[in-house]
Amino acid sequence: MNEHYARIIEAIGEDPQRPGLKDTPERAAKAMEYLTRGYRQTVEDVVNDALFPSDCSEMVLVKDIELYSLCEHHLLPFIGRAHVAYIPNGKVVGLSKVARIVDMFARRLQIQEQLTVEIAETLLNVTGAAGVGVIIEAKHMCMMMRGVEKQNSVMKTSAMLGTFRSNQATRNEFLSLLRQ
Ligand SMILES: [Zn+2]
Repeated sequence: MNEHYARIIEAIGEDPQRPGLKDTPERAAKAMEYLTRGYRQTVEDVVNDALFPSDCSEMVLVKDIELYSLCEHHLLPFIGRAHVAYIPNGKVVGLSKVARIVDMFARRLQIQEQLTVEIAETLLNVTGAAGVGVIIEAKHMCMMMRGVEKQNSVMKTSAMLGTFRSNQATRNEFLSLLRQ
């Protein structure tokens, strides 16, 4: 990847040999590797058996999970928050694991819509929950720094599975918990 970054620096009309840029290809490659580390993780690694039997059938909500991702169209960041809720059906998952599932998928290339669905489906599969709801709000650098240059637009996406899809009261509870 270092070599490719050196070529990109050349292609934009810069000199990859000048002192300020000399080590940039290596640093950029390391940064890119870090930002895409989700490809080297699996759901099994991330959840690591942190599943516990539970009689709880009330909604569990993890709100305001910080999210940093790269859009697959421009390789530019989108940054925001994910809110993840589920209704357990015999099993709960460690709360930090919910954040780690978000992070694993965020550290891959994709679009926000797909990220939202992947998080929801994974949590449903892992926990066997009665339902899962995921909402992501994010600002996209590809809109803010280029293209339409809309600085304040926030993209919101949601995925509702199981009872979150079929039951209006569940969905309302999720949305009202988010407003608090
Ligand atoms: Zn983009």
